[in-house]
Amino acid sequence: MGTTPCMTQSLWHDRPEPKRYTDVHTAEGAFDDVVVGAGLTGLTTGLLLARAGRRVLVLEARHRGAVTTGHTTAKVSLLQGTKLSRMRRHHSERLVSDYVDANREGQAWVSRFAEDHGVAVERRPAATYAATGAELKAALAEHEAAIAAGLPVRWHERLDLPFPHAGATVLEDQFAVHPMQLVDALAEDLRAHGGLLHEGSRVTDVSWDGRRVTMDDARELSTSNVILATGTPILDRGLVFSKVEAHRSYVLVMSGAVPPREMLLSAGSPGVSLRGVVQGGEDLLMIGGLGHVVGRSESERARVGELRSWAREFYPEALLTHSWSAQDYSTPDGVPYVGLLPRGRSRIYVATGFDKWGMTNAVAAALAISAEILGDVPPGWQQALRPRLTGPRQMVGLAQLNARVGVAVCRNLGGLGRRPLCSHLGGVLRFNDSEGTWDCPLHGSRFAADGSVIEGPATRAIGRGRDADGN
Ligand SMILES: Cc1cc2nc3c(=O)[nH]c(=O)nc-3n(C[C@H](O)[C@H](O)[C@H](O)COP(=O)(O)OP(=O)(O)OC[C@H]3O[C@@H](n4cnc5c(N)ncnc54)[C@H](O)[C@@H]3O)c2cc1C
Repeated sequence: MGTTPCMTQSLWHDRPEPKRYTDVHTAEGAFDDVVVGAGLTGLTTGLLLARAGRRVLVLEARHRGAVTTGHTTAKVSLLQGTKLSRMRRHHSERLVSDYVDANREGQAWVSRFAEDHGVAVERRPAATYAATGAELKAALAEHEAAIAAGLPVRWHERLDLPFPHAGATVLEDQFAVHPMQLVDALAEDLRAHGGLLHEGSRVTDVSWDGRRVTMDDARELSTSNVILATGTPILDRGLVFSKVEAHRSYVLVMSGAVPPREMLLSAGSPGVSLRGVVQGGEDLLMIGGLGHVVGRSESERARVGELRSWAREFYPEALLTHSWSAQDYSTPDGVPYVGLLPRGRSRIYVATGFDKWGMTNAVAAALAISAEILGDVPPGWQQALRPRLTGPRQMVGLAQLNARVGVAVCRNLGGLGRRPLCSHLGGVLRFNDSEGTWDCPLHGSRFAADGSVIEGPATRAIGRGRDADGN
């Protein structure tokens, strides 16, 4: 594997600059639905509403797919690491089965859409493997949980892999997509159905009644509904941002190695993820993992180094072509958080908490939210994903999450120095030595060196600055 540091760029964004849309310049009057965020969640929700004949605008702060969707490993799988066994520890069989149903619907929708719109799909089995004997229990628990949820998994003592492992549960016939091809096709279909897409404008506020959306150039738009498809919600009402945890992890792409047949995720924590990708006729190997809570790693550069050392040990012939990191959000009880925002006057919707499994969950969220807005009979599984905060388990999970936030604040204050403060709620930012950014350990906001917002719940720059794409 090469030793020169490689650019921080996602494989999916390594392509000629695509056409950008600024449709709001030609828009007049009020909208039925304003969707904030043009990742997989926002574009799918916008498309479903536009197909129903509604006047829809999708507003994007940077460009479509700029954040998590354009930096994913893009497995579209019902076997999701140790997700089902972890959920099973805290939830009823019914809820786990509703979660699988939601993901099955999301997966089927992506499969159909990709086929209809010429989006590249790679069919592969998915596997959760035990990297060591100590991980065997967790891998076996996932195997059992998957069977209980009706997934036809099979246990394998060995897979054809160059690194040690102690067994794996395998689900055949899953797939991966090219996420930016998917995003582009969604954007085109949205516009073909009369929906508008406006890139390069950040939403800074939504009025208390959910009827007016303010953009960063102070323009105001009228709407009947607002859908916050922003990763973590940008509005503080309902305190949803405080109920999710932002996890950042690392991805490498290499040429010259034989990728595994399966799309793999180890059962340990933090896990290692592997999959093959065919790009321009070449077989590439994608390795990801070593995640941590945003802003709470001693050195992000060391994490990248650790992942590269792992790759070097087991794939010594591989050459690094791309390297990047990205973040996603998890809820205390492991179930996504999809539906009406508390205190949103029944007009503001949120979709978050996909826990690095948004390629299916984001689409399930879009199906659920659009059905609710259109007044369709809601899918049976939707109840399981609705915003919930009152159960004892949720309260314990939330208390634990906030206790961790408290510890992070104290640690940060201990070494305050001249570190900048987050424009969201004043958290002390940590310097990310891999990407040269300022990351907030409280709720995952991140800022570029010039102070502009990259991602997270913050909507304003720190100090004077422009946004990450120079807008
Ligand atoms: C390293 C990594 C690997 C992953 N691998 C997988 C995988 O293999 N399989 C899987 O199922 N899932 C995976 N995921 C998760 C999945 O990629 C995400 O859950 C999914 O892409 C989230 O989509 P989204 O549309 O909700 O968010 P995003 O794609 O982040 O979109 C949110 C959009 O909102 C915009 N926005 C934010 N604030 C504003 C504002 N104020 N105004 C206007 N726009 C705004 C952002 O710019 C962004 O474009 C992975 C995640 C990570 C981090």
